[in-house]
Amino acid sequence: MAIELSTRAAQVQPSATLAVSAKAAELKSKGLDVVSFGAGEPDFDTPEHIKQAAKDALDAGQTKYAKPTHGLPQLKKAICTKFQRDNGLAYQPEQVIVTVGGKEALYLAFQAVLNPGDEVIIPVPYWVSYPEQVKLAGGVPIYVEPEDTESNKLTPQQLLGAITPQTKVLVFNSPSNPGGFTYGPEEVKAIAKALSGKEILVFSDEMYDQLVYGGQQFMSFAATGNEWYDKTITFNAGSKSYSMTGWRIGYAAGPAHIIKGMCKIQSQSTSGTGTFTQVALTAGLEADQGCVAEMRRQFERRAEHMYERLNSLAGVSCPKPTGAFYCFPDFSGAYGELGVNGSVEFCSKVLEEIYVAMVPGIAFGCDATARMSFAASMEQIDEGLDRLEKLLGKA
Ligand code: PLP
Repeated sequence: MAIELSTRAAQVQPSATLAVSAKAAELKSKGLDVVSFGAGEPDFDTPEHIKQAAKDALDAGQTKYAKPTHGLPQLKKAICTKFQRDNGLAYQPEQVIVTVGGKEALYLAFQAVLNPGDEVIIPVPYWVSYPEQVKLAGGVPIYVEPEDTESNKLTPQQLLGAITPQTKVLVFNSPSNPGGFTYGPEEVKAIAKALSGKEILVFSDEMYDQLVYGGQQFMSFAATGNEWYDKTITFNAGSKSYSMTGWRIGYAAGPAHIIKGMCKIQSQSTSGTGTFTQVALTAGLEADQGCVAEMRRQFERRAEHMYERLNSLAGVSCPKPTGAFYCFPDFSGAYGELGVNGSVEFCSKVLEEIYVAMVPGIAFGCDATARMSFAASMEQIDEGLDRLEKLLGKA
């Protein structure tokens, strides 16, 4: 007799983005010439000085448990300096936790604050793991769809309207994965003002704060003033800024009592991330930020190029990306011609017929779209777009 899974495990959806990467890798391993726009990670290598710091740490025997498990003091100090330098946020080390990627930071935060039935407002389109992490913590995801499907951004009134007495958390992700948009400072301030007085927490996922384009300005939610500084947890990681996705290192900062709760759960689950990994991120945060600026410049060129080529295709419309490394085009105008019903069938057809991998929009709550990562070389972007042009035709 097979032992049944728990209801908790049974209800979790596997990550659609990781599934696409795995499928593309499988086709590649069979020798097929796959162009992958599925990845949620930079295609650049981790900068040399960061790798060197890890090598030095290994040689110096920094191979034991990190002490304390929730972050080496030197790294916490560097994180506080980063928040002040880049985000105008004054955090103290006791307000900071270092985690196994940004994903663990979010997971721990939901575990630390949610009780069964607590509602979490999740703007659509959303990063795939929010709903599943909320459900794993016993919470209830409340999805809010954008009225403005051009920008995919929510208005302050929409967010205000979604708040009920059960609301515990609003997830705010700017720059957005998958939407590729960034809320500007005036928009962030308007949302903060509209929600003023509401006894909720904001989880501000700022993984892509260093990757904004086209003159777009970024603002941290906690930087809108004292009220939201006190009620916001700010999330970030080495993953996107320093191309460290495989190192598994992230961090969060916010009210000390919540961070302490997260540390407790971490101490009984993962015991945190690797010691030498922490030394490496410290080096990344403390060094000159020129490598980040260079990666950002390259992403910006690719963003512009992919966006222009997508909008030249029949049945496709794509908002201009202003952050992260994703185009989020609406392909629904091409569904009829191709005889497909929805984003899963569309992406399957594209992968099977022209070997171009992208993630179905339904994974992010939006069936008209697909997510295309421009963390790929210009040659790969052109190759993929040439194939799409053959399949869909010119507008
Ligand atoms: N939040 C967003 C919006 C992301 O895009 C990602 C990664 O794709 C994460 C969190 C998790 O980041 P990490 O790879 O550091 O766990």
